Order: sequence, then structure tokens, then C-alpha cells
Amino acid sequence: MTRPTLTSLLGSRVRPDVRAMHAYAVQSSAGMLKLDAMENPHRLSPTLQQALGERLGAVALNRYPGARLQDLRQALAAHAGIPEGFDLLLGNGSDEIISLLSMACAVPGATVLAPEPGFVMYAVSAALQGVRFVGVPLRTDLELDEAAMLAAIAEHQPTLLYLAYPNNPTANLWDDAVIERLIEAAPGFVVIDEAYQPFAGRSYLDRLARHEHVLLMRTMSKFGLAGVRIGYLVGRSAAIREFDKVRPPYNISVLNAECALFALEHAEVFAAQARDIVAQRAVLSAGLQALPGVEVFRSDANMVLVRLPRLDGETADVASTVFQRLKARGVLVKNMAGFHPLLANCLRLTVGTADENQRLLTALKDSLCPAPT
Ligand SMILES: *Cc1c(COP(=O)(O)O)cnc(C)c1O
Repeated sequence: MTRPTLTSLLGSRVRPDVRAMHAYAVQSSAGMLKLDAMENPHRLSPTLQQALGERLGAVALNRYPGARLQDLRQALAAHAGIPEGFDLLLGNGSDEIISLLSMACAVPGATVLAPEPGFVMYAVSAALQGVRFVGVPLRTDLELDEAAMLAAIAEHQPTLLYLAYPNNPTANLWDDAVIERLIEAAPGFVVIDEAYQPFAGRSYLDRLARHEHVLLMRTMSKFGLAGVRIGYLVGRSAAIREFDKVRPPYNISVLNAECALFALEHAEVFAAQARDIVAQRAVLSAGLQALPGVEVFRSDANMVLVRLPRLDGETADVASTVFQRLKARGVLVKNMAGFHPLLANCLRLTVGTADENQRLLTALKDSLCPAPT
């Protein structure tokens, strides 16, 4: 027998759907003003860097993660204020929790349903588990289309219904009364994804005890620790116990856990940063509104979605043109062209510091009407 070549192995033994996929593209950002990924613009202060360094240096790296994860679960439960009878599952970011939910619920015929445009990982992780994904378009004002959602729920009987609260990339919180009616109609689990809770002003947490089938997902990424990779799912203890079985036993690094515990001990620093970002969001939105022809959508998160006016003589999606011009000026944002028809000519801008937002506004103004050269 001749051994198959690597090329033929890749062609015959790797799943065809995996071969047809594109890898998740992380844009290169070296030397750029990075406003593309809803990261917190603030780093730890030198004092906190020093203190964290000492803490991390003392961690037993020779041991697998153990009891410290219990401390982290308790600290997160206290931080979030989770009710009696509820428990918490830890993920390597919310991304991993979304994968674990798809995996745990991948029975034949299962469907994952979410409004679109929405967070891409709901569809990606469903596909990777062989679970069907159904996206239901939002209305043109980017609110939930209640009738379409109810019809899709009745038709597809989704195992998992994701509602991002606020949504990414539209940045808005949807109508609570509509959400409540969707939850009541849902025959499976409903996951309320509160990644942007630090900036939102409202949370589903106080309503969580009303329904047994609702799960709440949060992350430390938008809180200010995107590099640390800690997400968590809150649900009834019986549900969390079940989902926890598919979690790899050592998915949370001892370093990640220690960083998260450290950050929670200094939660007031991050809360102050979130308040500043919310204030800067208003300044940025007003500055964007003052640009001729730019449509600014309401934001309850640390990003602002804008629709750009058509440029003279341009036929392509204007977002792609302006994205490139911003990039040439050293500003990296997210180009939503081609992402969903509802987002034609749209850019998603992460809210930065006052100074960063000013640089973004100047670069955007120049990009919309570049000076003749
Ligand atoms: C950023 C984001 C997350 C967080 O993902 P992590 O893996 O925790 O970084 C989850 N849901 C939505 C809607 C997001 O935008």
C-alpha cells in the first residue's frame, strides 16, 4: 500500500464543509488606531500591572486548574448578582460557551435560530456541530421583526434561540415586550447574550427567574479583558450541570482565572471606564450626526453603527471605499459591506477614548470628502 499524500488526506479525510470554510480573519492592526473589535481602550495602570504581575508570578503553573475556578465562579456570581438556585458555567470566552451549547444540543433535527444581522458565532458553531441555523432578518430600523420571529419559531421549533441584548453589530437593545413574547413562544432554550451589559443600562438578569428555559450569557471581554478569554453562562443549576458535562475539564487557564479574579477585585476601575465609554459614545454619536448625510443608529453598547452617504461617482459599497481610506489614515474600523443586505454602506465603529474618537471623526470627515490632491 502506498501512503496517501498529505494533499489527498486533506481532500478525503477532512470534512468537506470544513474545507469549504474560511478561517476567522483577524485584521492586522500594527501601528493603527484599533477601533474594530469593541475592545476597551484602557490598559491597566502601572500600579495594577505591577500588582497583577506579582499575583501571576506566584500562580502554580505546574498544576492543572483546580479550586481557583470555584473562587472565580463565586466571584462572578457575586459580581453579577445571580439569584438563588442559579449556577454558572465558565467558558474560554463566550465563543466557547456558544460551541458547548451547540454541542450539547446537537440532536438530529435540532435548529439554532437568531435574528440577523447578528453575532456570527451563533451560525458558525451551529454549522460546526452539524446543527441547522436559521437567521431571521431584523426590520429595516434594526428592531426585532416580531411577526417574522414568531413565525420562524413556530415553523422551526428551535432548540436554541439567541437574542443578543444589545445586539452586535447593530448595537441596540431590542424592545423588552417583544423579547418577552418571543421567550414565551420559544419551545427550546433562549440564550440572552449580554456581552455589552457594562454599557447597556438594562439587563435581563432581574427577569431571569421568571422562566426556566432562559439562559444568560456574559463575558469579561467587553468589560475590559478581551485578551483574558473568560465568558460565563448563568442558568438554573440543573441546566448548567448538564451543559457543564461537555466543557473540556481544563478550559480555563490558571492565568486567565487569576487575571479575572484580580480584575473583579478592582471592578470599580472597570466600572469607571465603562461610564467614560458611555459618555464618549454620546460625544462620538453627536460628532457623527454632524457629518453630512451620515445616518447614526442608536447605541446601547461600546460601538456605533453608521450608514454612509453615497459618494460622487462611486458604484461599489461606499463602506468598502471609506474603510480603505480610513485605513490609509491609520484608523481601523469594521467594514460591514457584504455582511448582510440590511447593513449596506455601513461601518461599525468601536467607541474609544475622547482623543481616539476625535481622531476617528477627523479621519472620517476627510475620507468622506477627500481633499483634492
Ligand atoms: C464580543 C461578543 C461576545 C464575546 O465573545 P468572547 O468570546 O467572550 O470574547 C459574545 N457575544 C457577542 C454578541 C459579542 O459581540
